[in-house]
Amino acid sequence: MLTAVLLHFCGLALIRRTPRKKIMANKTIYVDIICPKCAEKARFHSELVGDYKLYPDKNGKVSCTNCGFNSNHAFSNKDYFYKVQVADRTLYAQTLEKLIALRDYFKNYEQDKGHHSPDTDFPKTFYSNKEDIVKKINFILEKEKHWPPR
Ligand SMILES: [Zn+2]
Repeated sequence: MLTAVLLHFCGLALIRRTPRKKIMANKTIYVDIICPKCAEKARFHSELVGDYKLYPDKNGKVSCTNCGFNSNHAFSNKDYFYKVQVADRTLYAQTLEKLIALRDYFKNYEQDKGHHSPDTDFPKTFYSNKEDIVKKINFILEKEKHWPPR
């Protein structure tokens, strides 16, 4: 009985000590959103939840460095700061880095055949409007002074 308790305790201690930082880092996400108060770029923080497949909790916190807004927030698609209208669909990017990655993905799509990741499984409309997407993202990047494109 005592041994079992000790083992259990040691196990827990081990688990806590080694990968703690990593687990924490992987469990939170952030999305650049339109500030509900001033409409500038704010940041939405949320945690990844779920057992089998993790997804961001739509209930999180928003903080804005522009107006100081700081509050709980329920995320919805209209909050995305980075979005591109593609025909009748909308392409969303969580962050500027991801927007740039999306631009490069569509820009290099023809040359790069090694992209069969389920993360990059987009509607057909996106593929038939690749040039349009690249152009629109470049326009956003230009406005953000991340220019010239890499
Ligand atoms: Zn704000």
